[in-house]
Amino acid sequence: MRRKLAAGNWKMNGTAASLEEIRKLQSILPNGGPDVVICPPTTLLFSACSATEGSGIQIGAQDCHAETDGAYTGDISGEMIADTGARYVILGHSERREAYAERNRDVRHKTSTAWHAGLTAIICIGETLEERETNATLDVIAGQLASSLPDAITADNTVVAYEPIWAIGTGKVPTQAQIVEVHDFIRSKLVARFGAQIADQIPLLYGGSVKPDNAATIFEAENVDGALVGGASLKADDFAPIIHALADS
Ligand code: PEP
Repeated sequence: MRRKLAAGNWKMNGTAASLEEIRKLQSILPNGGPDVVICPPTTLLFSACSATEGSGIQIGAQDCHAETDGAYTGDISGEMIADTGARYVILGHSERREAYAERNRDVRHKTSTAWHAGLTAIICIGETLEERETNATLDVIAGQLASSLPDAITADNTVVAYEPIWAIGTGKVPTQAQIVEVHDFIRSKLVARFGAQIADQIPLLYGGSVKPDNAATIFEAENVDGALVGGASLKADDFAPIIHALADS
């Protein structure tokens, strides 16, 4: 049995007042449900860790530097994230790949550093609309997997999130057949490279406009083990039904 995981990416949203949403979420989580991770902005890592201590919710960051320390003004390292009590970090989100020109090899280096700090990396991959429309999706996914994932992967240190870029924040969701095809493909690539014993245990998340009304259908796919959720993770009343749908899947 693979573990199920619902991760919320708050992006550049949230102030101290937003911790109330995390507290509210704790009170409406299903018993014995999936793993739940909230990735607030860096400014809230410490306080979010305190607010969730002893609860079923883990905290994650949204990026880290590829080096452990040094003269990198404005950046934070994996060790610093771990120091806050956070246990996860999102790496290679398409918004960072696009806005900061992050390449697969940057994601691979960041992942190794994050692992070194004891963090679990949520590694994002996904195609653009143009790549989807020119039937390049599987080639793009294969390339991102090959170059973004370090060799020392385990089911404890890594989660892979398939996030078609054209579905992020747009309200557009791939067909169920497209979701199934890509997730099955990712699993087969992981098995080919890392062997079934490791690959079969790595959680695969779908991300891109997951909402309370489409989550249950998305979670029907055999190789979808959860979701990376942006907009709908900001409010407990939106995120909780997604988590419940995952628990019921
Ligand atoms: C995301 O930012 O990773 C994401 C999936 O966003 P949204 O759910 O808002 O599409």
